Amino acid sequence: MEETQVLISGGGPVGLGLAIELGQRGVRCLLVERHAQPQPIPKGQNLTQRTMEHFRFWHAEAQLQAARTVPKEYGIGGMTAYGTLLGNYHYDWLQRELVKAFYATDNERLPQYATEAVLRARLAELPCVQTLFGWSVEMVRQGGGVEAVLAERSGPGRRTVSAQYGVGCDGSHSVVREQAGITETKSDHDRLMVLLVFQSEQLHRLLSRYPGKSFYNVLHPSLEGYWQFFGRVDLGTTWFFHAPVPPGTTRENFDFRRLLHTAAGAEFDVEFQYIGFWDLRVAAADHYAAGRLFIAGDAAHSHPPYGGYGINTGFEDAANLGWKLAAVLQGWGGPALLDSYDAERRPVFLSTATDFIERSIAVDREFLRDHDPVRDREGFERHWAERQTGAKGEVNAFEPNYEGSPVVFGPSGSRSSAKGAHQFKARAGHHLAPQPLSRGGTVFDALGEGFTLLAFGAAEHQVARFREAAEREGMPLAIVTDTQADGRERYEAPLVLVRPDQFVAWAGTNTDDTGSILRRVRGA
Ligand SMILES: Cc1cc2nc3c(=O)[nH]c(=O)nc-3n(C[C@H](O)[C@H](O)[C@H](O)COP(=O)(O)OP(=O)(O)OC[C@H]3O[C@@H](n4cnc5c(N)ncnc54)[C@H](O)[C@@H]3O)c2cc1C
Repeated sequence: MEETQVLISGGGPVGLGLAIELGQRGVRCLLVERHAQPQPIPKGQNLTQRTMEHFRFWHAEAQLQAARTVPKEYGIGGMTAYGTLLGNYHYDWLQRELVKAFYATDNERLPQYATEAVLRARLAELPCVQTLFGWSVEMVRQGGGVEAVLAERSGPGRRTVSAQYGVGCDGSHSVVREQAGITETKSDHDRLMVLLVFQSEQLHRLLSRYPGKSFYNVLHPSLEGYWQFFGRVDLGTTWFFHAPVPPGTTRENFDFRRLLHTAAGAEFDVEFQYIGFWDLRVAAADHYAAGRLFIAGDAAHSHPPYGGYGINTGFEDAANLGWKLAAVLQGWGGPALLDSYDAERRPVFLSTATDFIERSIAVDREFLRDHDPVRDREGFERHWAERQTGAKGEVNAFEPNYEGSPVVFGPSGSRSSAKGAHQFKARAGHHLAPQPLSRGGTVFDALGEGFTLLAFGAAEHQVARFREAAEREGMPLAIVTDTQADGRERYEAPLVLVRPDQFVAWAGTNTDDTGSILRRVRGA
């Protein structure tokens, strides 16, 4: 029987990201992906600034930027329109540039298959990761470890593998989730959705009135808050579109060209490349782990692509689980560390689903019910203008944090959530905002692979206490010293303990109790 440390089922974006995270930390893993090549459907396209930080740490940022299909000069902004795409009312939407200062990188946009190709290329550089593309995980079970049966997709090959841990990154129909006995809670919106990929040069010309925009959300009163969504796949030719369609719609019995024309409010040439369907629902696993089996990405949570949260949430799962698995396998991560994966990531998804995705459907539904430019133009225009402020608020408020985590020192009684506020202050449980260093570059350039202590204007004996405690605990701790000036004072603490995933674990002025701080953050 073959043996590895971590078996990863599924090599979509999340499985690939996890394998890189583990492989860079020297963990031996086997990634099994049933498709030989990335599938040519342009799904998860909007990559947030936070996701691009992962790509930086995965040494694939420049490659991803080079793979984008819409030139940077053109722009990757979004907009919301009322009635039809070319109607009288529209405003900018998901303006991620509003929170740019809080991240070390800029956001990107490219088709998921192009992202996967970049990740596959990076993975090929990591010697401790073995990949089996064109193979499926058929069965997985656990005892003292994990055992899996793999089958070649278009051939007779079969293998049995043993691993210390298994992770299902195998999408919304996850085999690992099912065989681990992890149940899901679903909220069914009872909507059949169509996904169309098509070519049209005339649509590009029609949209020249909205320069710099790459995705377009159309609100139509008849759809009760569900969206008609156009997105560029490249500049000028290829598009995708999704929208609710009547129950029972098939490829054969529906006029999709007409649907596109009605949603746009104009006629244009259309050549279809793909027509597919899915049921709109929100599904969340009731646990993200069972024993030695974990789930991440769409295997743990799936939802409509409203707001572009799916792939980004999945990458954060990978970053969160990756360093924890590595820490445990390297011997310095304690037993509570792996439990904290569920404790941190599940509440964040539940909040993403209710506070952002489902809320936006409900808010749009209410707006469309209460306001109509034909009935009351002035009232409609006033409320339409107010919505623009809300669109800004949504970007600022989406700030996933682990304030309630057992392995960070968040405020007592607080809960982990996707809802927060971007701040420069270093707050336990929150993502660290980058600041410049006197020696050049930013704090992000100096972060270690393990934990990092930022000591900005801190007393030397305080720093020494952390250094000695880390040695006693046997955990990796990089130390970055500098003055508390030039932006670094914005952390509002001279000592900031940063986790390997760039979240703040503890921030303070001074402490005698460095040992117990480090024990808690490493899950001992
Ligand atoms: C139309 C559309 C638009 C979207 N837009 C956005 C967006 O703008 N932003 C965003 O963040 N998200 C978006 N999403 C969501 C995003 O595509 C998903 O969240 C993302 O694909 C999740 O990645 P994953 O790796 O978890 O799962 P998947 O992409 O589903 O990958 C799972 C992989 O596992 C493999 N697999 C499954 N079972 C097995 C098995 N038994 N053995 C081996 N391999 C297996 C599959 O072949 C697949 O490659 C969109 C989705 C859709 C449908």
